[in-house]
Amino acid sequence: MKITRLFLTIVLFVVLSGFGNTVDADDVYICKGKGSKRYHYKKDCRGLSRCSTKIYEVSLSKAKEMGRTLCGWED
Ligand SMILES: [Zn+2]
Repeated sequence: MKITRLFLTIVLFVVLSGFGNTVDADDVYICKGKGSKRYHYKKDCRGLSRCSTKIYEVSLSKAKEMGRTLCGWED
């Protein structure tokens, strides 16, 4: 019975971790430099290499709310 409980704990942990990853997948990166109107999926994107400010991580919906569009360098 102890083994069953341990197994259920592991399953629960994996499921919860999975949900966490799903939320993270919706995060995008933005630069707040002058004239920056794009968002990026990759932190090391070419479009962000010229960024003069700190790179901020925001949710995709938030980026769209800010009027951002997907960067031209993204796939
Ligand atoms: Zn980009």
